[in-house]
Amino acid sequence: MKADAAETLSLGSNGPYRGRCAVLATMHGKEATIAPPFAERLGLSVEIPPGLDTDSLGTFSGEIARTGTIEEAAIAKARLGMAVTGVTLAIASEGSYGPHPQIPFIAAGFELMVLVDDDRGIVIREHLIDESPTYEHANAESVRELDGFLSRIGFPDHAVIVRPNGPDGSAPPIHKGIRSSADLQTAIEDCATRSDDGRAFVQTDMRAHMNRTRMATLGRLAERLAARISCLCPTCRTPGYGLTGVDKGLPCSWCGGPSILVRHQILGCVSCNHVERRARPDGLTHADPGQCPTCNP
Ligand SMILES: [Zn+2]
Ligand SMILES: [Zn+2]
Repeated sequence: MKADAAETLSLGSNGPYRGRCAVLATMHGKEATIAPPFAERLGLSVEIPPGLDTDSLGTFSGEIARTGTIEEAAIAKARLGMAVTGVTLAIASEGSYGPHPQIPFIAAGFELMVLVDDDRGIVIREHLIDESPTYEHANAESVRELDGFLSRIGFPDHAVIVRPNGPDGSAPPIHKGIRSSADLQTAIEDCATRSDDGRAFVQTDMRAHMNRTRMATLGRLAERLAARISCLCPTCRTPGYGLTGVDKGLPCSWCGGPSILVRHQILGCVSCNHVERRARPDGLTHADPGQCPTCNP
């Protein structure tokens, strides 16, 4: 191994968290999908703190607004788990769903997961964009109007939330975690009668234990975070070394000026200031002039 190369711990090796236990701050059953990658890759087990109320930090359904960035929310959740248990190592995740930032008319999810390690004084983060989430809404007077919607979202494997239909869909009451046609009909009747237009607003319940697609997405994210944790900084050997950003400006093959394409990957450490620039993994060294603002303005 070269002295300046990052070290990725092999599976089963004696890594920094082998035999340790981290608090997983969730009350939505996320351990089912998050725990296995950490156990298999890092030898790190997770425990769920009893009586944890992460809803006090904000809810998906919006009764309590989250404050700050998604990363601040995830770290706050991890810290809540640490405070309840006295454990100095915690994992938490936070997600946000809405219209895709680049592609019209489709939905996307942003999921962020953190490991907070107070012994080392570090936070290791990883994220992913879910381009095909099960995230949708409709409105209806009765359950009969929802046949197409319910089959598209895979009800009842994906549960729904029902509220009165209104300008912002935020008026009470709110019925959460609905998984049967009978409960759905009752909730729609209740909410429709309280709405000015006589309709109920029905949407996918995005809590992990209510949305199988999101639960699977969190498993993929846990795999990525565990892989990043297993990579040590070449300078200080702190875990969590990896991609932190990119440089754009790959040279144009005609004029040599900066194109809009990525030139380098930037890798960094969560503890020291070690930074490394790596060539594109696809080996591309020059951009097509079509990607150049000078040749193709
Ligand atoms: Zn050019
Ligand atoms: Zn370092």
